[in-house]
Amino acid sequence: MAGATSLAILNERIFACERCPRLRSHCAKVARVRRRAYADWEYWGRPVPSFGDPEASVLALGLAPGAHGSNRTGRPFTGDGSGDFLYPVLHEAGFASQPHAVSRNDGMKLAGLWITSVARCAPPGNKPTPEELRNCAPWLDREMSMLKHLRVVVCLGRIAFDGLLAHVIRTGNLNSRSGLVFAHGAEYALPGGLWAIASYHPSLQNTNTGKLTRPMLLKVFMRARELAEAGRTAAPAGQ
Ligand code: SF4
Repeated sequence: MAGATSLAILNERIFACERCPRLRSHCAKVARVRRRAYADWEYWGRPVPSFGDPEASVLALGLAPGAHGSNRTGRPFTGDGSGDFLYPVLHEAGFASQPHAVSRNDGMKLAGLWITSVARCAPPGNKPTPEELRNCAPWLDREMSMLKHLRVVVCLGRIAFDGLLAHVIRTGNLNSRSGLVFAHGAEYALPGGLWAIASYHPSLQNTNTGKLTRPMLLKVFMRARELAEAGRTAAPAGQ
């Protein structure tokens, strides 16, 4: 439970973060103006806390909250097209208690999985700047150090993949990212005992065009489960 408490405290600190003035002002503006379809919603409009099982052995690492998805509902991948694609896959792979994610109070529970992103505030055009990604990186470092059973990171998109490699370099477990190339389904055993699996991001741009299909994403998460279960007999990552 100590891990759960630490992660909850960390989430509260992230909730209050103001390191990126451009992103904070964008999120607040989106929350104020709202989309007509969500006119009755009180938007979250703050940094979006991570979500999941503190005992997780798999981390799903995304890019950033969607303006009218997580920035509205306050939970990763909840309330937009990316989440509508992702959560049914997580349910089928046994990580999520239900396929539909609509709000923080919809009863969703995760088992063995933690979800976060490399930027925790919705960026204009879904594009955080390099400086904003650097600002947010220490939160990821802290969080990953608190996930004591972590074995596998599923990187949803190239920017998440880059963010994970930067984390592993910062923590001293990797000198160079040479040979570590983003490609859907690519998997790498990283020094320190962590596995990385790269996946296309479940954005509408990828899922509507068939670049990422449901079987492709399911295969990624089933492989993550397999690697996590194979690692249960070994020492926890980075220890
Ligand atoms: S993106 Fe991260 S570092 Fe920037 S304000 Fe949001 S929580 Fe803070």
